Amino acid sequence: MPRIGAPITLGRFDGSSFNDEFFALAKKAAQKSPFRVFRLGAIIVDRKGRLISSGCCGGEHANSHFKYFYFKRFPGKSMHAEMDAIGKIPSENVLSALRSRPMLDLLRNARIYVYRLTEANAPGNSRPCKDICWPILKKLELRDAVYIYKIDGEPYIAREYF
Ligand SMILES: [Zn+2]
Repeated sequence: MPRIGAPITLGRFDGSSFNDEFFALAKKAAQKSPFRVFRLGAIIVDRKGRLISSGCCGGEHANSHFKYFYFKRFPGKSMHAEMDAIGKIPSENVLSALRSRPMLDLLRNARIYVYRLTEANAPGNSRPCKDICWPILKKLELRDAVYIYKIDGEPYIAREYF
């Protein structure tokens, strides 16, 4: 079925329908990051609205095999929140995420919420990064991402299809 409408929608920060319980959980996940400036949290919700996984940047939640291959493939990078969440999903196929193959059916049409807290505890831009996370999440066939997008210093909530 073709998608109708814009690939990105922007809504007010407080009134957006995407500012829901999962968005709040993504904020909580961001608070768990050991980092000071870049604190991101990610929440993955399946197509039926069930919470699948959560993670934070610099998190140590991903399973050890996933972490090994992640740091091998992205040397010098920290663990990104989205990948922390992907890498802790209990699945024999979790490594296929790094090989950019779909992981079973689990993530198909799922949604990822990404929240960033700045050093001043304010919402910060949190679109999944274009170098690591976006391409992997797209290959994993997630449907869309909900993240913070700032315009002239004001935060908005963006929903973008992969
Ligand atoms: Zn990333």
